[in-house]
Amino acid sequence: MENNKDNSSSYCPSYTVKPGAKLYGIVNENGFINYLKSPIEINQDFIEEAYKGREPEKRFRFAGNCSKSGCNQWNGNSKECGLVDQLIDIIGNEESMQLQDCPIRSKCRWFSQRKGLACAQCNEVIRDIEMKIIGVD
Ligand code: SF4
Repeated sequence: MENNKDNSSSYCPSYTVKPGAKLYGIVNENGFINYLKSPIEINQDFIEEAYKGREPEKRFRFAGNCSKSGCNQWNGNSKECGLVDQLIDIIGNEESMQLQDCPIRSKCRWFSQRKGLACAQCNEVIRDIEMKIIGVD
């Protein structure tokens, strides 16, 4: 697998809902993520429809280009996303031998940094939880 740690086209797997974002996961009734077979680029129509229900970021997972130093989670010293390490610490799941299927893995920033350990936390992550973890909520 390519290590895309410094690749500017890496995807943030916790992107906000906005036109051009890639929908790649849907939160199921148990609060875990069902990963799509392929990401779907969303448009304004999708967003307007999605806002008719609960907040889209509580129901879906989106990916988009990692903005690196343009994001508060970016660690300029290590040149990595700091959020994935917080999730590993707080959720604390052990790495599984069997990775779940994920349609963005080859471009995922978290996977490029922490491999299967990132994926082990990922299906419990909804953006709302992350906001609490980082103290924004
Ligand atoms: S951390 Fe793993 S499961 Fe989550 S989006 Fe990245 S590659 Fe997919």
